[in-house]
Amino acid sequence: MSGSESTKLAELAKRRGFFFPSNGAYGGVAGFYTYGPEGAALKRHLEDAWRDRFTVREGNQEIEAPTIMPEAVFEASGHLEGFDDMLVECAECGESHRADHLVEDDTAVEDAESLSIPEVEELIREHELVCPSCGAALAGEPVEEFNLMFETTIGPGSGQTGYMRPETAQGIFVEFPLLAEYARNQLPFGVTQIGPAYRNEISPRKGVVRVREFTQAELELFVNPETNEPDLSRVADIELTLYPIGNQREEGTEYLETTVGAAVEEGIIASEWVAYYLGIAQEWYERIGVDTDRFRFRQHLPGERAHYASDCWDAEAELGGDWIEIAGFAYRGDYDLAKHAEHSGEEFTVFEQYDEPLHAERATVDPDMSYLGPEFGGEAGEIAEALERLAKRDRTAFEGETVSVDVEGEPYEIPTEKTGFSVEEVTEAGEHVTPHVVEPSFGVGRTLYTLLVHAYREDEVDDEPRTYLALDPEMAPTTVGVFPLMDRDGLGERARELLAALREAGFEATYDDSGNIGRRYRRQDEVGTPFCVTVDYESLESETVTVRERDSTEQARVPIDELVAVLGGLRDGDRSFEAIAEEYEHQELSAGTENAAE
Ligand code: ATP
Repeated sequence: MSGSESTKLAELAKRRGFFFPSNGAYGGVAGFYTYGPEGAALKRHLEDAWRDRFTVREGNQEIEAPTIMPEAVFEASGHLEGFDDMLVECAECGESHRADHLVEDDTAVEDAESLSIPEVEELIREHELVCPSCGAALAGEPVEEFNLMFETTIGPGSGQTGYMRPETAQGIFVEFPLLAEYARNQLPFGVTQIGPAYRNEISPRKGVVRVREFTQAELELFVNPETNEPDLSRVADIELTLYPIGNQREEGTEYLETTVGAAVEEGIIASEWVAYYLGIAQEWYERIGVDTDRFRFRQHLPGERAHYASDCWDAEAELGGDWIEIAGFAYRGDYDLAKHAEHSGEEFTVFEQYDEPLHAERATVDPDMSYLGPEFGGEAGEIAEALERLAKRDRTAFEGETVSVDVEGEPYEIPTEKTGFSVEEVTEAGEHVTPHVVEPSFGVGRTLYTLLVHAYREDEVDDEPRTYLALDPEMAPTTVGVFPLMDRDGLGERARELLAALREAGFEATYDDSGNIGRRYRRQDEVGTPFCVTVDYESLESETVTVRERDSTEQARVPIDELVAVLGGLRDGDRSFEAIAEEYEHQELSAGTENAAE
C-alpha cells in the first residue's frame, strides 16, 4: 500500500466508523482515538480471536486488573527510573519530538534508541537535523529523558501518587502469589490480560499506530527454567520469515525463510519458549488475515533489548512502506518476580516438589555461648556465625580437638566440643523456585490497523471503481448484509424476517434498503462485509435468496432453509464460496447486474 492509499484508508476509517481522532468538538488532543461502530466490532473480533488462541487453546487463565497502580509497583518494575524516551524541543515553534526517531528518519542509524544522549545530540548537530513542524535547526537544542508514564493522585488532597499502567503485564506480576495458588503452584502456568495501557508518547503519529491510550493483549507464562520446556513438535514445521541480528547488519534486507524447528536447532532463536510462541503467533496472524508476505519477525539488536531480556523478537508488519512493530516476544528471566519480591518483601516463588524426596546430610553447629561470650567478648557473635559458615563449607575442619576460624583477619581457636557440631540426616521434598517469564505482548490497535491495511483493495466492478476490504469473514465487523431488492410487494417484510432469523442464529447482520442494490453492495464492500443476501421476487415464489460474495462478487441462489448452515460454513472457513456456487445455482439477481438502477 502506498502513502496515498494510507491516506485513503485513514479517510475510509473515519467516514465509515472504524476509528477517528477523539474529542473533535473541543479541538482534539493528539494521541487519542475513538473506535466507531465498525472499528469496535472489528476490535472485539480480534480480541476474541486472540483470547481463543492464547488463553483458551493454550490452557491459560485470563484476569482483569486495575489500570491505575501505586508508585511502589513502578519503583520495583524499573519504569519510574527507566521508562523514558529522548525528547528534543524546537526553540522556534515549541513542538516536542522524539530525538531518536528524528535521527533514525534522517540518517543511516537504525537503533538510535540505544545511543546515549550526547551521541544523539551529536548526530543532530552533525546531520543538521531540523524541526519537522517548522523547519528550524535543532542543533544545540538539549536532548532530555522524558518519562512516558501518566502520573495521577489516588484519593483526595495530597493523596498517594499513582500511575496509569504503561503495560498490562505489571497487573499480572504483582498478583503472582495469589495467581500461583490458583494454578495450584504448578509450573508452567500462564496468565493473560487484554486491556488498556497508557503512554504519554512524545509525538503520537500514524493514526492508531502510536497513541497515548491503547489496548494490549499480553500473556505472561511462568516457567521453571530447569525443568519446563515447550512442546516444539506442535510448531516445528511452521514456516517463519526471520530477520536475525546478523542479517540486519548486512546491507540490504535479506530475510531468513526457515521453520521454527530449524531456527531452534541452528541456535537462531535462543529460547525454545520464544520460538514456540513465534510459531503459534505466525499461525494466528495467518488465520486472522495478516498478509504473510508483508510480515516478519525481527530480532532485537543488543542495544535495543531491555536489560533483563535475553532474547527478544518483534512481529513487524509492513504498513504504508514502513515496518511497524505489532507485537513483542521476550524471555524476561526472573527479573520481574525477583524485583517485586525484593521491593514488597513478599514471596514470589513456587514450591516445586522433587519427583523423589532428596535425602542429604547437613552439618550444623550450636555454639556454647556461655563459653564463647566470656572467652571472646564482643567477637563471640561473629565467631558463632563463622563457625556456622565453616560447618557448611568444610565439615572436616571439626575433626580435631580445636577448630580455627578467621574473623576480620584475626584467627581464633575454639575447642570442638564447645561448637555443638553435628551432622543430621535431612529429607528435602522440593525447593522454592522463582519462575522465569516468557512474554508475548500484542498491541491490539496496531494489529487491527494491519488487518485494514493488508485487506485494502481497489478494483472495478461493471466498469465502475470499487474499494473493498478483503477482511477474513470471522474478523469482519458485519458478517451478512440483508437487502430487499426493493422495499415493496412484501420484499421488505421477507428480508426483515430473514434478518431477525439470522441474528437469532448468532450472525452479525445488518439491513439496508436505501439506494440501488449496487450502491448497497459497495457500502458493505467498503466495511468488509463478506456476504450479502438479497431477497428478490423469485425469493417469494421459490423460498430462495441470492448470496453474494464480496471479493469475487459472484452470486449463488440458496434455499432459505439452508441459509444459516451455508453462511455458517462460509464464515467459519469450513466451506469455500466456489463450493457453494457449484452446489447451488450460479445466479444473477432478477433485476440484472449489480449496478442496475432501482
Ligand atoms: P515502540 O518501540 O513502537 O514504542 P515498544 O517496543 O515500546 O513499541 P512494547 O513495550 O513492546 O512496545 O509493547 C508491546 C506492544 O504494544 C507493541 O508491540 C505495540 O503493538 C503496542 N504499543 C506499544 N506502544 C504503543 C503505542 N504508543 N500505541 C499503540 N500501540 C502501542
